Amino acid sequence: MKNRMYYKQIKYFIITIFLIGITPIFYFGGQYQAELNSIQFQRQNAAKHQLNFSQKEINSIASVLGTSLQLLSDNRVLIQFIEDPSVKNRSLLESLWSLTATNYSYISQVRFIGVDGKEISRINDDNNEITIVPIDQLQDKSQRDYFIYAQSLKPDDLGFFGIDLEVEHGKVLTPPKPSLRIFTPVEVDDERKGYLFFNLDVYEIVAQVGSSLEPGYQIEFVNEEGYYLASQDKRKTLGHIITERDNYNILIETPGLWTEMKAQISGEFSDEKAFYSFSKIILGGNFNSSSLYLILSSQNDLKATKLEHKLTFIIYEAVMVLILIVFLSIAIARYIAKHRTTSLESQLALAALNGMSAIVITDKNNRIIKVNEEFTRLSGWTESEVLGQPPSIFQSGNHNKNFYATMWKAIQTDGIWQGEVTNKRKNGELLTEILRIQAIVDKHGEMKYFIASFVDITARKELENRLRELSEKDVLTQCWNRRKFEAEFSNIIGSGPFTKEMEPSCLAIVDIDHFKRINDTYGHDIGDKVITEVGRILDVESRRADFVARIGGEEFAIILPNTQLNEAEVILNRLRVAITLNDDIKVTISGGITDICYSSEASYKRADLALYDSKTSGRNKMSCFSSAEMEQIT
Ligand code: GH3
Ligand code: MG
Ligand code: MG
Repeated sequence: MKNRMYYKQIKYFIITIFLIGITPIFYFGGQYQAELNSIQFQRQNAAKHQLNFSQKEINSIASVLGTSLQLLSDNRVLIQFIEDPSVKNRSLLESLWSLTATNYSYISQVRFIGVDGKEISRINDDNNEITIVPIDQLQDKSQRDYFIYAQSLKPDDLGFFGIDLEVEHGKVLTPPKPSLRIFTPVEVDDERKGYLFFNLDVYEIVAQVGSSLEPGYQIEFVNEEGYYLASQDKRKTLGHIITERDNYNILIETPGLWTEMKAQISGEFSDEKAFYSFSKIILGGNFNSSSLYLILSSQNDLKATKLEHKLTFIIYEAVMVLILIVFLSIAIARYIAKHRTTSLESQLALAALNGMSAIVITDKNNRIIKVNEEFTRLSGWTESEVLGQPPSIFQSGNHNKNFYATMWKAIQTDGIWQGEVTNKRKNGELLTEILRIQAIVDKHGEMKYFIASFVDITARKELENRLRELSEKDVLTQCWNRRKFEAEFSNIIGSGPFTKEMEPSCLAIVDIDHFKRINDTYGHDIGDKVITEVGRILDVESRRADFVARIGGEEFAIILPNTQLNEAEVILNRLRVAITLNDDIKVTISGGITDICYSSEASYKRADLALYDSKTSGRNKMSCFSSAEMEQIT
């Protein structure tokens, strides 16, 4: 039963939590997703901003360098050197260039290349270490693609080329050094004299741009094949040249991003690893390596950002609501389970209330608060007539105070009493019932209600009385029979002691005189009628308290309680006369009377002796034989 209850509670809990929980789950799910999207959106924006910022920075570097390149190309020192490449002029030029290269950390070379592609003057800047390249080490760059491109430039044009690797004397420099070149034609009096080149250290540029980024962002240059040209992480650069690094390629690492990059000039892309913003930079000409991508990425790691707080808060909220829902569901489940059980119990109670028994429910003050239909049917009282009344209104008066005191004592001590009670119906008729009164106690043991249920046994009781009467009455005369007489007689003997002070009781035995003759003359039936009539007269003419029984064929015994022997003699003679005077029957009776004391046999014997005395002394006579006379004889 308990298990069933738990099972029910769990069932209701699951249903309730599902019903209550479904809305918040969707709500918080939606909130979480919205917040996630908003975070994603914010990052996207932030990354876009960073990319813009980086691009602007690159543009500004480019513009600064472009300006200085153009200033240097028009510079008098360079013109003088072209017109007179003396040692002094060369030295002046080299000093000016050294100064410029020192000023801009990303300049790694400043060169003047002649129209034939041969370097005329050059300085190198390796991490702020300026070297002036001796004339005998100057190289021929006429075959390099950037030089071919430079030749196509108009006067005052600015050419960009790269990013590719530094090549010295036809060999790629080790460690590889990606560089970007900017250059402009140098003309004197509209005659092209050569080209001024800046080689820019891409690592320096990346470091410069990267240093202005917010933490978590990374800037990279990627070539048109997806290989990294420059990155803050140098180990993954130049996969297209260094075979061990050829796995570091956008196409392999982030194919989705690569597809986006191929499809548009600038855009965004994100996957679970990172968020990317990219932009294509076209440097110039239709030459190889003339365009590259700038990619800005930030780790898509939610924990790393402060935005995560909002998500934590949503999770926190959801957990709180969940706990609340769980508690609420438990409470509701328990309530439903209990309520349903209670309602079942009330249904059962209602069924019981309308069952076979009559029921009267009283409150703790024993005032009626409820009766059922059976009660109304049996007692005749309707509920409205008895509400608020004490059940004592049903008392018949058949039971004494002691009876009710015992009943209440049992209820107080045992909580229950059961027994046979005779009450009164509304119409005054007696109602015998088997009554059971049960006290209903509360948690503290206090009696709150009393439930009295009873069944009507009036009819049964009447039958019982009738049967008892039948077993105690003589069928022919309706007087008590011999068995009843013996019981009554031993009752009187048993109720002793017999003292002088006590009023004695007397016993008389009466016999019809010469009854055989009646039988013989008129037949047995008439004989029976005579016996019946004698019995009737004895019953009618005796006193109320006198006990008349037929104890033999035509013999009767009469017990006269609380009667002196002489009184008894008077009464018996009155009976004798009454029979004699009766016209219907022509019989007489004789009797023997004695006072009852001590032994039943002795008392009976005395009465019998007295009867014998009456018979022998002529009949139609009453004789007495007292216990005192008997004592004298013996
Ligand atoms: P006595 O005056 O000495 O009493 O004479 P009696 O004829 O009445 O003698 P006794 O009392 O000894 O006899 C009783 C007779 O009554 C015997 C029997 O035939 C008769 N009798 C006994 N019981 C019944 C009965 O139930 N019905 C009828 N009709 N007769 C009965
Ligand atoms: Mg007889
Ligand atoms: Mg007789």
